[in-house]
Amino acid sequence: MGMFNNLKLNMRCPVCNKSHDFEIEFKFGLLDLHEYSIGDKVEWPPFGYPTDGRFNGEGYAVCEASPPIEARHEFLVDVLVRNGLIVGAVPRLDREVHIKVELK
Ligand SMILES: [Zn+2]
Repeated sequence: MGMFNNLKLNMRCPVCNKSHDFEIEFKFGLLDLHEYSIGDKVEWPPFGYPTDGRFNGEGYAVCEASPPIEARHEFLVDVLVRNGLIVGAVPRLDREVHIKVELK
């Protein structure tokens, strides 16, 4: 209920341009708070499995280097699934401008 999964990976933050470990939250596959890493096979519920194992799903990322709340570096990503395996995540700055850039 209200569950999601996590993907741990190292990625460059598009706001501060530094590479960090991220925990990306996403809501596809079997939602059981599974912690995925790159190369893991996605677990799916009995329905809705992408038959060719190819899928781009939305994920949500917060940069660990960002300041709290107002100036947080948060952005959406595409979580890339190929042949049933998670192969990466790409920031989707075009899709949601919920990035709050620090004003100086
Ligand atoms: Zn950042």
